[in-house]
Amino acid sequence: MVKVNENYLKLPGSYLFSEIARRINQFKKENPSAEIIRMGIGDVTRPLPSAVIEAMHKAVDEMSSSDTFRGYGPEQGYDFLIKKIIENDFTPRGVNLSMEEVFISDGAKTDTANFQEILGTDNIFAVTDPVYPVYVDSNVMAGRTGFPDSQGQFEKIVYLPCNEVNEMKPSFPTSRVDMVYLCYPNNPTGMTLGIDELKKWVDYARENKALILFDAAYEAFIRQDGVPHSIFEIEGARETAVEFRSFSKTAGFTGTRCAYTIVPKELMAYDSKGEAHSLNKLWLRRQTTKFNGVSYPVQAAAAAVYSEEGKRQVRGTIDYYMENARIIREGLQKAGYKVFGGVNAPYIWLQTPNKMPSWDFFDKLMKEVHVVGTPGAGFGANGEGHFRLTAFSSRENTLRAVERMSILKTV
Ligand code: PLP
Repeated sequence: MVKVNENYLKLPGSYLFSEIARRINQFKKENPSAEIIRMGIGDVTRPLPSAVIEAMHKAVDEMSSSDTFRGYGPEQGYDFLIKKIIENDFTPRGVNLSMEEVFISDGAKTDTANFQEILGTDNIFAVTDPVYPVYVDSNVMAGRTGFPDSQGQFEKIVYLPCNEVNEMKPSFPTSRVDMVYLCYPNNPTGMTLGIDELKKWVDYARENKALILFDAAYEAFIRQDGVPHSIFEIEGARETAVEFRSFSKTAGFTGTRCAYTIVPKELMAYDSKGEAHSLNKLWLRRQTTKFNGVSYPVQAAAAAVYSEEGKRQVRGTIDYYMENARIIREGLQKAGYKVFGGVNAPYIWLQTPNKMPSWDFFDKLMKEVHVVGTPGAGFGANGEGHFRLTAFSSRENTLRAVERMSILKTV
C-alpha cells in the first residue's frame, strides 16, 4: 500500500489567495457594476523591457538553426549570464564572487523552498512573523516541524515576531536555532535592515554556526543609502549565508522565470561527527541531479537586463512602481493610517483602523470602496491587525485606490 508523506497533511489548504478570490467572486456576483481595484497582487503588471524581448527573440531564432541551436545547458546556468550577474550586481558593491558560486534557477520560490533539502531535518529553524509562507511550508513538507496550533503556528518553528513594538525588526532567538530565514527588503512588511543590523545577524549566525537563508528578491527596490543590497556586503557573511535573488520583480520575469542563488565556497554544514561539508558542493550535487537548467532564450533575455538599454528600462519600471509606493504611503499617512514599508520595497504594510481583524478590514474595504488588498493574518499570527498593499498596479488605479481608502478612513 502506497503511503503518503504525512508531513504534507500538517499543512492547511492554501487558504489565503483562494479565500480572497472566493470573497471577490461572491461580491462581484452580488454587485456586478462595482469596479474593484486590486492592490493585493504580488505580481507585476508592466511588460518586459524591450531590450529583454529583443534578446529573447534573437535567442529563439538561434534555436532554429543547427549551427546555433542549444540543447541541454549547464544545470547551474550559462557563463555569459553568471558573468554579467557578478560584474553588475556584486563587483560594484565590493563583493567578490567566483563563477562557481552563482547558480541560475527558474525562481527564488523554487530555491528558497528547495535549499533546505541539503540540510539536516533535525535543524531548528527560525522565521520572522509575518513571513513569506514558502519558507514555512517547504520545511513542514520536509518534516522539520510538528503540527500547527490554533493560530497556525507550527510546533518546533522559532517565530520571531515583527510588530509595532520592534518597528517590524526581529529580535534574536532566545533558544537554539540552526537556520534563519531573513527576507530584506521584506515581503510583506516592506521594511529593511541597515548594515549594522544585518551585521548583528551575521555575527549571531557565526557564533552559533547557524545558516542565514537571505532572500533578496526585492533588492532592486532599495532607494536609501545604508541599506545592504546583498548580505555579502557584510564581513563574515560568506561563512554563514546563502542569498536568493530574482529577476521576477526586478525586470518583470514573473511569467518568464529566472533567478539565481549565491552559495559561497566557505559555507559549511556539519555531519553528526562534527565534520564540515561544503554547501556549495552539495547544492551543485542537488541541482545537477534534480534540475536541468533554465532555458537558453530565458537566460539570454535575463542577460539583456544588464545591457545599457536594459538597465535604463528596468530602472524606469522600478521608478514607476516606487512612485506608486510613495503615493500609497504618503496618501494613507495623510489620511491617518499607520503605515510601514514602501520606501525601499514595493509593499506597504498598514495597521488596520482600530486594529480591526484583517479579514474584517478586507471585507469593509472591498464592500465600501471596492479596493482589495491582502489580510495580514495570511502571513502569520503577528500579521493580524495589519494589511498589505502592493505598488504593482497602474498609476491610475493606485491613485484611485488611495483616494477611496482616504474616504473610508475618515467616515
Ligand atoms: N521571495 C519572496 C520574498 C517573494 O515575495 C517572492 C514572490 O512573491 C519570491 C521569493 C518568488 O520569486 P520568484 O518569482 O523568483 O520565484
